[in-house]
Amino acid sequence: MDKYLSIITNFGCHGRCPYCIVRENGIKVPKSTIGGLDKLEDAIKMTGANIVSISGGGDPLYRYSDNPLVPMYLGMVMGICIKAGIPMEMHTSYTESEFPYHFCKRVVYHLQSVEDLENVVRRGAEIVRVVFVATEKLSREEINRISDFVRCSDQIDELSFRQMVNDRYETEYYNDDFLKAGHNKGLWHYIRQKDYNIYYAENRIYTKFSEIEADIQEER
Ligand code: SF4
Repeated sequence: MDKYLSIITNFGCHGRCPYCIVRENGIKVPKSTIGGLDKLEDAIKMTGANIVSISGGGDPLYRYSDNPLVPMYLGMVMGICIKAGIPMEMHTSYTESEFPYHFCKRVVYHLQSVEDLENVVRRGAEIVRVVFVATEKLSREEINRISDFVRCSDQIDELSFRQMVNDRYETEYYNDDFLKAGHNKGLWHYIRQKDYNIYYAENRIYTKFSEIEADIQEER
């Protein structure tokens, strides 16, 4: 079974996700630096992780082509993964970036509309997953259209819907029964919100995402 170490990056973000709860107050995770990778190798060993996932914060591929820090940082993570002999997973909303998507074991594209699915392309042998947030606006009809598209696609392997979290960090349930039923039929994965994982941000390890935010506030 995969044991994840999730690197939480903050290179900024495009601010385009309608369900975003952090845009207004800023991204409350530390800004990513090259020095913040110093303890990644030790963290992989210590946690026994067998896969590293990269997410945010903002979007890990934000300004990949014009902020040299981003490719440098991600290149270093790739090198550390190669050295540790474990694969990498990327979470992004960018379907067209110069990032070498094919390096990853899996790329998880965070999308917003049925139309976005047309832009998802497999670059190599990576597993391609798409994920949508179950917002108030995502109708059953759209869910079915997304599901039909993915079933017929030779570029997309996996489909997930994720529960919506509001700005008080509470879960909101839209189309909950319908999404559960589809999950049980094997049509998609329905991800229940849980704030538990092993996170890595700037040389520190956390077991709750909210602890990263609390840490930042303490430092202010
Ligand atoms: S990438 Fe993250 S921080 Fe940026 S708008 Fe989307 S959800 Fe919000």
